[in-house]
Amino acid sequence: MGTSRHRNPASQTSPLPSAKGQRRKLTPPINIDLNLEELIRLEEILEHKASGLIKKGPGVLSQNANRPKNVLSLVHKKFKRLEPHVNFRLSRRGGGDRYLISSFSRGMDPELMGRAALGLSRTKTERFRPDLPKHRGVTAYIYEGAIGNQILELLGSQAIDISNIFASMIAHEVGHNLGLEHDYTPKSIMFDFGGASDHQKKIWLQYAAKDELEFRGWQIVRMKLIITGPWTVSPTHSRLSLPRAGGR
Ligand SMILES: [Zn+2]
Repeated sequence: MGTSRHRNPASQTSPLPSAKGQRRKLTPPINIDLNLEELIRLEEILEHKASGLIKKGPGVLSQNANRPKNVLSLVHKKFKRLEPHVNFRLSRRGGGDRYLISSFSRGMDPELMGRAALGLSRTKTERFRPDLPKHRGVTAYIYEGAIGNQILELLGSQAIDISNIFASMIAHEVGHNLGLEHDYTPKSIMFDFGGASDHQKKIWLQYAAKDELEFRGWQIVRMKLIITGPWTVSPTHSRLSLPRAGGR
């Protein structure tokens, strides 16, 4: 732009230049750390065959050193409409506003694919108990062993893009972290997987594998509200049921 900027007289008394005045209103992006190093070592999933947690499926689970990076960019895409309010990064230590770890499973639970604290405000989540003492500050998990198990149970050994499914699961749990509860639209990221029939679960996983799951417009608005506001947003409804497969 060749036009010279006018100095707004009002800015003389303002501590910040008026040309950047709008910036002052923007809350900094919320940092979301993803620890996906376990996803590199997917051969471990096959070693757990004896536990009955998953069965081996040709071409479904394979080692891929680039997987964390691929999954990160897929997750980023799912939150594109929230830009510039979210900032995803791979991290082994956390320290951001939210912290998700990919882990094999919770105990030997073959159905729990993930769980997360519900975000109540930008800085606050409901109480959340990490699986291990060293996981301090963790606000969400995905369990790739259980995810693999569900994929093989419901989709058989058909070739699928598991990175898309991991990304959808991560987006789901981070969605909880940013204040979203479940919904009941099978094409939605926040679909209540745990409460669904096998048929519905299968459909959801197929959408996930094809990278076709999305947040709904009002869910984007709600997350934005939590990220940018100092206020606490109460849950849309409270439920007493414990999360099962798919977790919260
Ligand atoms: Zn959930």
